[in-house]
Amino acid sequence: MTEPLVRTRFAPSPTGRMHLGNLRTALFNALLARHRGGRFLVRIEDTDAERSGAEHERSLLAELRWLGLGWDEGPGCVIPADGARQSERGAIYDHWYARLRESGRAYPCFCTREDLERVRRAQRAAGRPPRYPGTCARLSADEAQARLAAGQPATLRFRVPAGETVVFEDLVRGEQRFATDDLGDFVIQRTDGSASFLFCNALDDALMGVTHVLRGEDHLTNTPRQQLLLESMGLPVPSYGHLALIVGADGAPLSKRNGSRSLEELRAAGYLPAAITNYLARLGHTPAEGALLDMDGLAEAFEIARLGRAPARFDSAQLQRWQAEAVAAAGPGELLPWLGDDTPVPAALRERFVALVQPNIRFPADMRTWAERLFGTLRVEEPEPLREAGATFCAEAEAILAETGVDWKAFTRALGERTGRRGKGLFMPLRVALTGVPHGPGLGEAVALMGAERVAGRLAAARRWVESSQ
Ligand code: GLU
Repeated sequence: MTEPLVRTRFAPSPTGRMHLGNLRTALFNALLARHRGGRFLVRIEDTDAERSGAEHERSLLAELRWLGLGWDEGPGCVIPADGARQSERGAIYDHWYARLRESGRAYPCFCTREDLERVRRAQRAAGRPPRYPGTCARLSADEAQARLAAGQPATLRFRVPAGETVVFEDLVRGEQRFATDDLGDFVIQRTDGSASFLFCNALDDALMGVTHVLRGEDHLTNTPRQQLLLESMGLPVPSYGHLALIVGADGAPLSKRNGSRSLEELRAAGYLPAAITNYLARLGHTPAEGALLDMDGLAEAFEIARLGRAPARFDSAQLQRWQAEAVAAAGPGELLPWLGDDTPVPAALRERFVALVQPNIRFPADMRTWAERLFGTLRVEEPEPLREAGATFCAEAEAILAETGVDWKAFTRALGERTGRRGKGLFMPLRVALTGVPHGPGLGEAVALMGAERVAGRLAAARRWVESSQ
């Protein structure tokens, strides 16, 4: 028997920016589909018309693309032909509402917000969990019809069967059991006719052929309700896996306060897609492979069995570590834009410059610092080795450079002989004289890139700096 094609989805509500939590959910679903040679869908859950916006949707999709999380079906694709946005799927929902009403599995509910609040208060006071008491479930068909005809606002509620147990095998957390008596009948259509999350989220998964749903554990208690709903409509139920929350260093759910940042902020700070995907793929998931991986590698390494049940702790030091790896592995095309338009690095030297400093940088600001250090005006940031070597050292270096040019070997050999300096004693003051700091990229290559004239200018500037600082 061949296994059915795996179909996963990311179903964001376009009400805000992408943050690490929903990004990780998107990534895991995309990786699961790719790992199994399946398909990854994107569905826009925009039934909350007030909070949803086209601008949010655009940026969300652009961010998914930027991360390399392309989708096989969804916005901009020919499938699904009947709409990838829930706001386009109203006719489908109406069809299923009618069927649920006809079969008696759903009924109109006329309880007002105040009625419900009163009941909830009483339940809480009696130490019972709040749930719908079934008031309108007991209305006769005639009465319900009469009230509807009189224009009384109504929601549509799903009738949860009494005295049963819903059982499902969570992909991450194992078997889950819920007594239907604890669930209470729930709203599937709001008074304004719009679809509730529980309803259209489950229905669309079934109609779109989704086989696996990885989502946050805040949705765990929705699953038994959604399973009942799908079963009552005779539709297939996907396998659900609920991911442990991401928490901050303080153990509280990740939020702005304890270090969470939106993708937009991470991108603006210069984080590369590979850094973010490699970090997130290891947040609550432990791939066997420890090296930086591209999307195919991450997909290959993705295993449901490696998803953790314990809360995943966000660690910005780890994110930075992956950034360093991603920068080291990046192609020049990815890093060149970091130089910016007003860089002092001459156009013809930019690619070589980027390759030179690549091992020494993590962020765009680091690259611009090195551009200034090699091509701007000399700023002696860490003066000690230069001060110790003195102005004579600089003068000797200037004189030798005039003879050898930027032939690095000849230049340093002659300078060593003339000054009697070797090793660190020679290179540290030279580094400071040329770049302002005693550490950095290969000095011979830097000098070759800067050229004799600029190097001579640096040595003279360093000499004047020592003289004026004495
Ligand atoms: N739109 C829902 C959310 O953003 C989707 C939940 C789910 O993945 O089922 O929370």
